[in-house]
Amino acid sequence: MKVPLLDLKPQYQALKKELDEAVLRVAESQHFILGPEVEKMEGEFCEFLGCKYAIGVSSGTDALLLALMAIDLKPGDEVIVPTYSFFATAGVVSRMNAKPVFVDCDPVTFNIDPSLIEKNITAKTKAIIPVHLYGQSADMEPIMKLAKKHKLYVIEDGAQAISAQYKDGKIAGTIGDIGCYSFFPSKNLGCFGDGGLVVTNDEKLAHSLKIKRVHGGKPKYHHKVIGGNFRLDALQAAVIRVKLPYLNYWSESRRKNAETYNQLFIEAELAEEPGRTEFDSKNFVLLPEAKYKNLKGLTNYHIYNQYIIRVEKRDVLRQFLTDSGISTEIYYPIPFHLQECFSDLRYKKDKFPVAEKAAETSIALPIYPELTKEQIAYIVDKIREFIKE
Ligand SMILES: *Cc1c(COP(=O)(O)O)cnc(C)c1O
Repeated sequence: MKVPLLDLKPQYQALKKELDEAVLRVAESQHFILGPEVEKMEGEFCEFLGCKYAIGVSSGTDALLLALMAIDLKPGDEVIVPTYSFFATAGVVSRMNAKPVFVDCDPVTFNIDPSLIEKNITAKTKAIIPVHLYGQSADMEPIMKLAKKHKLYVIEDGAQAISAQYKDGKIAGTIGDIGCYSFFPSKNLGCFGDGGLVVTNDEKLAHSLKIKRVHGGKPKYHHKVIGGNFRLDALQAAVIRVKLPYLNYWSESRRKNAETYNQLFIEAELAEEPGRTEFDSKNFVLLPEAKYKNLKGLTNYHIYNQYIIRVEKRDVLRQFLTDSGISTEIYYPIPFHLQECFSDLRYKKDKFPVAEKAAETSIALPIYPELTKEQIAYIVDKIREFIKE
């Protein structure tokens, strides 16, 4: 059996008529950049996410960069970033000639560990960028408290988590000052190329984001500030408008798939209950934690952009799965503090043990909504074969 990590074709087939019509509508209009499609999309997101302002942009990376420009991040300012994320989260800080300050992650969710943030705050700290990794909200309550206490901006990297909910029911990305999302095709809501979104409830920030999306000119060709070209194509907005009404259904399917994996792993005696963070000799697979509880017993709504398990012999398992026709990926093999391009920041190995262990042991299994129960059973069976034989 062949199982790809992600197969976008069934989603396109299911929505082909609507999507083709949307693409043709844009072709007929010959209006390609920003304009009415983007404005309608922005309005629909305000309603869907429950935020005041939504601004379509050229990618998730540009959403983050634009957010940093909107808060007037200056050269030499510091921004606190988890050491374990997709490169863009830290890359945008350096591109502003500011300094990313890395923090280790929580061993259950791999999201930034809020208890490690405060000791990294200095007079130069301007913002925190929590990432809602894999589709699960970071622990926002303590982060927002710290931000308030030290007067810092919170810019949420929600690229993998559009519509995920924090345990109090708030939508990840709408809790901090600015939320950033990506419509890259492999995210839960993907367009036909690159695209992204910034959201905020702050009128001043919204104003700054909108002006800097188009080079900072207001009125056009009159520049008080410098922005860039962060415009979204009408074509991408039209595609996203077709897909948005299905997002909750796809999230539910992803959650069901995750539940099926969890159950099969536990039944096969390959794993402990979700939430364990240590390996022992009998149980080889550590599962992701969907029920990330707070003291009141409320749980996160994880939308599983990725389903990540942890295995000691990760690289050997990955090769075995490849040979069995199963595609997997490593998100991410190297934490930021060990990346060559950040060597001038002088972080040493062993500085962030949780992230380093995550980088060595985690592996992403296929989780897309159309994945069948048979495919999941096949994957679990192959992992059983690898571990038990
Ligand atoms: C995908 C991703 C981004 C970047 O989004 P693009 O649209 O690819 O530029 C940023 N942060 C995280 C955590 C991501 O997963």
